[in-house]
Amino acid sequence: MSTEQTFIAIKPDGVQRGLISPIIGRFENRGFKLVAISLVTPTKEHLEKHYEDLKEKAFFPGLISYMGSGPICAMVWEGRDAVKTGRTLLGATNPLASAPGTIRGDFALDVGRNVCHGSDSVENAKKEIAHWFPNGVVSWKASQFDWIYEKA
Ligand code: GDP
Ligand code: MG
Repeated sequence: MSTEQTFIAIKPDGVQRGLISPIIGRFENRGFKLVAISLVTPTKEHLEKHYEDLKEKAFFPGLISYMGSGPICAMVWEGRDAVKTGRTLLGATNPLASAPGTIRGDFALDVGRNVCHGSDSVENAKKEIAHWFPNGVVSWKASQFDWIYEKA
């Protein structure tokens, strides 16, 4: 278990549906610390780079147009095991396979409208954070720290 940073983005459907606050709440309530946040409508080029591993998929053009259809709430969350635990909070890619209690399991039905993105590995998290926050993130100590972690 190590302190990690993960890139989490509330997708255009999540923003339009008023889900910014409940999604942020899940990360805050779990004990993670917000170290970057930006509301942004990404360009096609920016999204094609973000999802470059999926460019051969049939759903790629639809994915790029969905993700560019409105503002996204792009964030970096920090804490112990943040990448894997962030994915657990999100649920499965297909919301129909996501357990109730997860973000996708509580707020979505369709894989093409699954409300939230989360990095899938520490290596990809580093790449995504650099891509979305080229000026870096904020370093700060949360006053709750010693109440969330037994040891630093
Ligand atoms: P994630 O890491 O759980 O977001 O899943 P992937 O990296 O495999 O895919 C990226 C995003 O592409 C997903 O979150 C979905 O929004 C979308 N996606 C994945 N698979 C499909 C699919 O079969 N059909 C459609 N329409 N979209 C998909
Ligand atoms: Mg992915």
